[in-house]
Amino acid sequence: MEDCNSTLPMQKILIVEDEPDVADLVSFNLERAGFQIAVAHDGLIGLQKALVEKPDLILLDLMLPGLDGFALFKELRRHSRTNKTPVIMLTARAQTEDRIQGLEAGADDYLTKPFSPKELILRVKSVLRRSETIPGTAQFEFGPFRFDKNNMKFYLAEQSVELTTTEFKLLLFLSERAGRPQSRHDLLRHVWGYSDDAHSRTLDTHMKRVRQKLAGFACMVETVRGLGYCLRTSD
Ligand code: CA
Repeated sequence: MEDCNSTLPMQKILIVEDEPDVADLVSFNLERAGFQIAVAHDGLIGLQKALVEKPDLILLDLMLPGLDGFALFKELRRHSRTNKTPVIMLTARAQTEDRIQGLEAGADDYLTKPFSPKELILRVKSVLRRSETIPGTAQFEFGPFRFDKNNMKFYLAEQSVELTTTEFKLLLFLSERAGRPQSRHDLLRHVWGYSDDAHSRTLDTHMKRVRQKLAGFACMVETVRGLGYCLRTSD
């Protein structure tokens, strides 16, 4: 089956995973889905490859020799070459706390092992789609917010504020619909591409980070009990 993306350059995914079986399975499935793959079996090599090869997305296992997943993630966010690169963390089912910690640190998404190839491809495509630039009017302004959609830059009262791609999309989605409460379901569907509501914790964790970054303007994002979130249009 030909698809219309076949003439575009292949997107590159870096897999940082020390378990050979998992790394092989993930590589195999992503290659078959049309991605170019790089693999690192330890954290330090993972960091090197991320900086040199500048992948479009990184799949990052948390328990790694050399440099663990969290430490590696922090390094990625420190470097200008990788600070916008979407990251999906790979966690074991028992590591719920790790997953929350990962999302709080700013990971774009996570996959819990064992995951199906179908779920893997779905999450990868969804995160990549989220990190594409948004077509349409390049600038959107709302109150003290200014969104530069082409460059994914966000300004708060004309001060640049560093948002992850997911945070940017979430806040933009709410801002473009200011005054109208948005349900958790719609937010998860539009921003993450989730079709079910099993990921509510992901939404809340990201919202918490967005509010932290909005500092004195955090109260503009209202929690609508039993529904979702809403951006206030005025005081
Ligand atoms: Ca591991």
